[in-house]
This record gives sequence, C-alpha cells and structure tokens, in this order.
Amino acid sequence: MRQQIVAGNWKMNKTLDEGLELVKNVLERLEQRPHGPVVFAVPHPYLQAVAKMLKVRKGFHLAAQNCHHEEKGAFTGEVSADMLASVGTEYVLIGHSERRQYFKETNEQLARKVNLALAKGLLPIFCCGEPLAIRERGTHVGYVAKQLKAALFHLHEADFRKIAIAYEPIWAIGTGRTASTEQAQEMHAAIRVLVSKKYGKSVADDTSILYGGSCNAQNAPDLFRQPDVDGGLIGGASLKAEDFTAIVNAMK
Ligand code: PEP
Repeated sequence: MRQQIVAGNWKMNKTLDEGLELVKNVLERLEQRPHGPVVFAVPHPYLQAVAKMLKVRKGFHLAAQNCHHEEKGAFTGEVSADMLASVGTEYVLIGHSERRQYFKETNEQLARKVNLALAKGLLPIFCCGEPLAIRERGTHVGYVAKQLKAALFHLHEADFRKIAIAYEPIWAIGTGRTASTEQAQEMHAAIRVLVSKKYGKSVADDTSILYGGSCNAQNAPDLFRQPDVDGGLIGGASLKAEDFTAIVNAMK
C-alpha cells in the first residue's frame, strides 16, 4: 500500500552511544505525534541495539544500509540478507549511489541483492538517480528507467509490491543542492509511469517513491506536498534529532 515514509540514512556516522542517543531523542520528540512510517538505516554493528529500542514503539522501523548479493560463504567482512533479518532488520537500502560509485555495484548485483532481501523477508528501499552530466544532457528519465528495468522489473507483481523506490539525483546528494519541487515531481511521475507500464496502474498507485538529495527541514514540506513524492530518504539531516523530526512532521 502506498504510504509516505521518511527514512534516515546515517551512512558511516556516529558511535553506538551517539546513535542510540539520536534514536532516543527522535522517539521522544515524536511521542504522541501521529506520523507515517519512520525508518532508521543504521550501520550494521548498531542494528541489534536499535532494534531493541524500536520494538516497543509503533511506526518506527529498522533498516540496514546494504546487504551482500550472495546468500552466504567466503566473503570476509560482508553481511548477508539472512544475517540482517536474523537481528530484527525490516528494510534494507539497495543500490545507494555511494555503493554504486565507491564499491562498483552493478545492476546485475543489485538485482541479486533485491532477490535475496525479498527471499529473507526484508523490504528493499531501492535507490536510483542520475549523475549531473546526464541531467544536463536531459536524458535522466531514460537513465533511471534503465536502472529500474535492470534491477527490479524481473520481479513478479507480488514481490514488486514490497519495494519502495528512492529517487536520489546524485548531484543533489550531500551537496546542499536539492532538486526543485518541479524536478522531483517530474521524475517521480515518470517513475510511476514506468511502473504502471510494467505492472499496471494499481501497482504504480500503490508504490511509495521517496525523494533523496539534500532534503532538509526547510524544503521537505514543499517536496512532500508533490503528488508523486511519498516522503524522503534523508542523509545529512537525519543525523540531528531536531532536523529529522521536523522532516518527519512534514509528511502529508
Ligand atoms: C542519501 O545519502 O541518501 C542522501 C539523500 O543524503 P543527503 O540527504 O545528505 O543528500
């Protein structure tokens, strides 16, 4: 079912104590306030501790920032979808642009990650988005279409329905340069059309498409008001309780 979701991606930030303090502050600030699903995408070593804190509160969910594309085996230092599920993880980010850029993750690997995550009961938040050169060339819709087709469109409808998509233009991530509301809405609507062509209108209408890229307390209300923007994936602004809760409160 389509819903607005706000997910905070801590990336490689915070010690355990700092992270738990942040979660505690967010939970306190949102006490008694109705809101849509709030997801914390925390570093792997903190999953279990954060899972414990979130267990007792409705509306808060735990995500990992990545999983490996193999089920198990001799992959020193890697973490499997099964391991994530076994410590109470519910969502997993797949295909974040930093993983694609710095770890050379390919669409083929991402498709395998999506398959494994679903097989282990995790809900993928699939990230897509174009670099600046592609945006400037005006071929961004085609670029994102290729990412979706290569990593998601092999799924059966029932599995596709478990996916949330995060549109994150790379030129807006961590740069302070947000997509305008028009740019975000245009791409989100285009993604919904792509999903509709593949799976039909009802699936497309039910798909949550989050915006990511320098989303903050100031621009979130306008972005989230767009008809095809269903919340956000938040990096930098998820690291401060005050900023993150303001973004959560901007949900429609
Ligand atoms: C992200 O990394 O997913 C992200 C959107 O980062 P930021 O909000 O810092 O641009």
